[in-house]
Amino acid sequence: MVGRVGNDNFGDTLIQGLVDDNIKTTHVIKDMEAATGIAMIAVAADGENLIVVASGANYQVNTEDVNNTRPLMREMDLLLMQLECPMEVVIAAANLAKAYDVPVVLNPAPAQPLPKALLENVDVLTPNENELALLADEEDIEKAIRKVLDMGVKNLVVTLGANGARVITEEIDQHLPAHEITAVDTTAAGDAFNGALSVALAEGKPLIEAVRYGMAAGALAATKRGAQPSLPTREAVESLMTTSSTK
Ligand code: ADP
Repeated sequence: MVGRVGNDNFGDTLIQGLVDDNIKTTHVIKDMEAATGIAMIAVAADGENLIVVASGANYQVNTEDVNNTRPLMREMDLLLMQLECPMEVVIAAANLAKAYDVPVVLNPAPAQPLPKALLENVDVLTPNENELALLADEEDIEKAIRKVLDMGVKNLVVTLGANGARVITEEIDQHLPAHEITAVDTTAAGDAFNGALSVALAEGKPLIEAVRYGMAAGALAATKRGAQPSLPTREAVESLMTTSSTK
């Protein structure tokens, strides 16, 4: 984990949460000026959400922090990023990953247009439909997919919430239906999806299998309230994959 928190209670809690989950925190810096990033999340009765983010310390992550990860990068199986740090930092990290031959998964959230220089270094891009429309500047999903592939993305996985996901590469265009669950709060479904997808890819699973793994994690996250507390364990993901039907 590479990032920044503030010198405050939220920061201490977040670092402790990582430590409790056996995640290395040596590259999580305590920023002495900015406060820890926070998010206000409103959840509707159907489980859909609206999130307002104050990035705080996350926006103080800089290219020097990225450069300091070189020793880590050498040993990494995969780099997973989203867009809650400055764009120049995301670009620098993707460049460094490429220099070390580390595959890059990018969840392009919060939604925004992306430079070609970044997309060319992304191995798997995982937008939801809104993010896809925004980054392609195109509302029509088929045209948006074409446009993003033309920008240099090799593997595109469009997450579709309760409708599952669509995987598009040069060889595949496949829709995978979602697990049938009762959604309570979809907050962090995308994060769970991306984390689990990345774990599966890092462990050498082929793309479609890794997407199925991510989808099980996303579905489980939607069955529980909250962001971090709803992230499932490996056991829960594997159990859902063997027991549950998809739509
Ligand atoms: P985001 O939170 O980034 O918008 P999605 O809502 O598309 O991402 O969720 C990511 C994945 O989690 C989906 O592709 C799907 O497999 C799973 N998922 C999310 N919501 C549900 C749901 N209501 N029912 C079943 N699976 C879901």
